[in-house]
Amino acid sequence: MDLDVDVQEAFVNFLRGAGLNVTRARLAVLRALAELPRHFEAAQVWMALRSQVSPATVYRTLELLERAGLVRKVELGEAHAHYERTFGREDHGHLVCRSCGRVWEFSGGSARRVVEEAAIQNGFALSEVVIQGYGVCADCQAAGAKRV
Ligand SMILES: [Zn+2]
Ligand SMILES: [Zn+2]
Repeated sequence: MDLDVDVQEAFVNFLRGAGLNVTRARLAVLRALAELPRHFEAAQVWMALRSQVSPATVYRTLELLERAGLVRKVELGEAHAHYERTFGREDHGHLVCRSCGRVWEFSGGSARRVVEEAAIQNGFALSEVVIQGYGVCADCQAAGAKRV
């Protein structure tokens, strides 16, 4: 996936608006996201950049991208944070396997509407909707069944 010019522009505008420098390293982190798997860790960004930037810069830039709304944290029940880009992606939910850690995506449409309706009913100003289920995937269930 090539990086959309609009996405880069959105990040540049965010950085300028926040009084931060538009640096080569920050833009390199954003560009690297297009080449990564759907759900990635900071370490993968660093490796994708072949260590051209420091790990600290990668973490800090991911924070900035999160604030800019271009990246969001995904809670996969592991100690280290996972991220996914929000641009060029459909709105979706996750199923997370507690056993092998793999993630399945599904269209979050109707589940999202339930949350949005609840927010309206409670006069709640919604900023983010996360639809996620945890459990054991079919493969892990099958492997477990064999062990029993
Ligand atoms: Zn599994
Ligand atoms: Zn996802």
